[in-house]
Amino acid sequence: MPLRFRPAWYRTLGQHAAVLAAALLLGLVAGQVWAFLAIAALGLLGWNYWRLRKVLLRLAGRERFEPGTGDGVWYQLDHLLYRGQTEMRARKKRLLAMLRAYRAAAAALPDAVVIIDRNTQRVQWFNKAANTLLGLHHPRDLNAPVGEALKPLPIAHWLSGGRNAEPLQDVASPLDGTIRLSLRLIPYSDQYWLLVARDVSKLLRLEQMRRDFVANVSHELRTPLTVVHGYLDMLDPEDMPEWAPMLAEMQKQSQRMTQLVEDLLTLSRLEAQDSLPEENVAMAPMLATLRREAEALSQQRHTIVMEDLAHVDLLGSNKELHSAFSNLVSNAVRYTPAGGTITIAFKPSAEGVTMSVRDTGYGIPQSHLPRITERFYRVSNSRSRESGGTGLGLSIVKHVLNLHQARLEIDSAVGHGSTFSIHFGPPRIQPREADLLLPQEQQIA
Ligand code: ADP
Repeated sequence: MPLRFRPAWYRTLGQHAAVLAAALLLGLVAGQVWAFLAIAALGLLGWNYWRLRKVLLRLAGRERFEPGTGDGVWYQLDHLLYRGQTEMRARKKRLLAMLRAYRAAAAALPDAVVIIDRNTQRVQWFNKAANTLLGLHHPRDLNAPVGEALKPLPIAHWLSGGRNAEPLQDVASPLDGTIRLSLRLIPYSDQYWLLVARDVSKLLRLEQMRRDFVANVSHELRTPLTVVHGYLDMLDPEDMPEWAPMLAEMQKQSQRMTQLVEDLLTLSRLEAQDSLPEENVAMAPMLATLRREAEALSQQRHTIVMEDLAHVDLLGSNKELHSAFSNLVSNAVRYTPAGGTITIAFKPSAEGVTMSVRDTGYGIPQSHLPRITERFYRVSNSRSRESGGTGLGLSIVKHVLNLHQARLEIDSAVGHGSTFSIHFGPPRIQPREADLLLPQEQQIA
């Protein structure tokens, strides 16, 4: 028993003893000891029962009366219960207010939010936006199987992915085809999933506008550049020797600008495509072409090594794959000082087949690797410009690989060199035709 109850306990015990002693005294005076004692004991019992009833009424929560004042053990108990109940009521009120605030916030979200029971796959709750974006109706769709409630959306297979389901981009809303949605499935507890649908129509329109703008600007720049480039080519430095260095610089810069425009147009074209033509990409001639390009670019400053160990061909776009491989080879040459080695290898791997370009050049610091395939991202601006880069090469590589479901892996150490590896899966592998026919170099379109 806690110490502070002790005085109350002794006081109550003392009161009971005093009543019994008084009854004993009166009984002795009246000569009716037992009768007086019995009446006093019954009185005490009745009083205790009456106090017990009050406590029970309070516990049952039927009465909210103020606790009485006194210093006995019953008063203490009553007071403690009253205090506990008041605190609990306040806590309950606070929790309810919080719950209401959370619900109101979730209901007011501009994104559609649907809570799904993971085991039964039934809709448990949804907010207002789920009505306007996904067409869910209250109370019709409450407790309905989610596949049925969202039937117009092609998501049955996606939902079965559960925890591993990748976000679904660009899905038409069942209510209005012009509203494009992005869907995410978030497992937030063992029992519930959260399906969040966001209206991305505006974002997609802006993205489209950006793509159109870049494509149009690049296209419009092409003609004036061709004219400037053409006239510059017609000028002979021997006719005006004092202008020769300026003329050479102008030709170099106009060449650079033309390359930039061409790269931007290539990127725009790749972005606009969902898939590419699937043709047999003969790898023996492809590797021979890459070797020739590397040698031409290197001008005998590097050792070029070719390892063709896969003996298979690829399935995809000849032109785009050549552009991706060629970008890696040209980077390897441009970012490797004279005397280095460039190794182009086509080998079988655990995933399928790997095309890799290894150099012994400057290398790339680890911190730059996550962003290296972004447009115009460069480790060193001056080195890239000096080497004639546009900053778009790796971005083109990434787009081409996405369209081939291939993966780019970059391994690099500063001062030692870099390896760019492209991993192709089994669907992209073809038996090599050149093994059957006599190898003949194929012209890359
Ligand atoms: P750029 O036209 O500038 O070469 P890329 O998109 O091809 O543009 O490459 C982006 C940047 O990545 C380059 O500017 C360069 O800093 C770095 N980089 C690419 N390949 C290599 C490489 N083989 N070795 C070192 N750095 C590289």
